[in-house]
Amino acid sequence: MPVPDEQSAPFWKAASDHVLTVAKCSKCDQATLPPDLTCPHCHSTAPDFRFVPVEGGARIRTWAVIRRSFLSGFKVPFVLVDAELDAYPDLRLIGQLLDGADAKLSIGAPVVVEFEDLAPGISVPAFRLKVAA
Ligand SMILES: [Zn+2]
Repeated sequence: MPVPDEQSAPFWKAASDHVLTVAKCSKCDQATLPPDLTCPHCHSTAPDFRFVPVEGGARIRTWAVIRRSFLSGFKVPFVLVDAELDAYPDLRLIGQLLDGADAKLSIGAPVVVEFEDLAPGISVPAFRLKVAA
């Protein structure tokens, strides 16, 4: 379960509405994910992030099949995908693949962000393979 802190609360609030957002620094206007205490681009310690919705298209950068979980509540095996957002290729988003552990994956394969509802008001970004039409 994600534990929203002051910095990331708007991200999780949007996620609970199934909206993916990136944090934009008020000083340099560069996007970051997840929001940190300082801006990774201009190193401002008061980035005063604003959260803007972003398209959920992404491409797989790498992935890991998790066969043993030390956290309860996760069904193993599952696949964790590390993807770059189409709109912001510098940003990486990590989430579970909803297609299951046997899905055929390749680097660069297109995925879309969907949200997994963990509890009322708590949703986390996850990925689903985009199937060619
Ligand atoms: Zn900045």
